[in-house]
Amino acid sequence: MSFGRSGLRLPAVTETDDIERPGYLAIDLGPTRLTAGVVDGDGEVVLRDRVATPPRNVWPALTQLVRRVLAAKPSGVVPVAVGLTCPGPIDRGTGSMKPVGKPMWHDFPLRREVAAITQLPVYIDTAGRGLARAELWRGEYAGVDRGDQNFATLSIGDQVDGALVSGGVVLDGLTGNLGQFGHLIVEPDGAECVCGAAGCLAAYAGVSAIEAATGRELRRTPEARINNVGVMIARACASMAAMFDPSQIVIGGVVPEVLGAPLFDALAKEFEVRSCLPHLSAVRVRGVSSRQLGPLVGAAAVALAQHRVDDVPAD
Ligand SMILES: [Zn+2]
Repeated sequence: MSFGRSGLRLPAVTETDDIERPGYLAIDLGPTRLTAGVVDGDGEVVLRDRVATPPRNVWPALTQLVRRVLAAKPSGVVPVAVGLTCPGPIDRGTGSMKPVGKPMWHDFPLRREVAAITQLPVYIDTAGRGLARAELWRGEYAGVDRGDQNFATLSIGDQVDGALVSGGVVLDGLTGNLGQFGHLIVEPDGAECVCGAAGCLAAYAGVSAIEAATGRELRRTPEARINNVGVMIARACASMAAMFDPSQIVIGGVVPEVLGAPLFDALAKEFEVRSCLPHLSAVRVRGVSSRQLGPLVGAAAVALAQHRVDDVPAD
């Protein structure tokens, strides 16, 4: 900031103010919140907007939000592609999704519609897979040798899903949906899950599951329930550790963000009990800073990983 002779504060002008830098339009589509914004090429969120997800007419609300973000035109950053995270599973052929418990969202041509609004190429993935991309881009694994980039993620919010990174590669599986860890069984014959099975992690750790069990908002979750959620997440993490041989399991999303240290304390205690293989003694289960790697950075990372300069909007 500079001061003129009269003592008036004048805006600082830097040489970079007029230079347009490429960035990404980032969208995170969730059952309770629609978030959109612009993320620059360094992974900084320069614009953020959000609305509550309406129970009906979700798509007009999404269109309105995206148009508002595009109209806001953050200075200096021009989106070259759209990264969008949403509940899976995702149909990569049609660019649509089939989230369990959300039949109204099934088969909406999300990629085509967002491309039509933005006139940009659109890349879609789940929040957990976006979190893995964000870790590789801006997190602890950025700059690490590819051979040492072996970790799993868990994104725990409205939806519970994750990803597996092996040798620097976010693994896809047969249909590109590897990472639906919300449906790992953590309590045989346990609580009913929206997928139709019983005892899934999502039935204990998802926002709606926690709020339904307590009858309170997430931030008012009693200590005993936080402890229970931590135990269930730890059981899933122990299974993931045994299956994947990761160096870390990185946990993001609104549930760990809101429940905080008491959740991680319960998780650590249970994980120690459940994960006993000698080669896994150094596996670290940790949270992620949402300020640094929130959902919009994950969505932008999805676009960054896939966008090539000659890509055009596709249906
Ligand atoms: Zn399930």
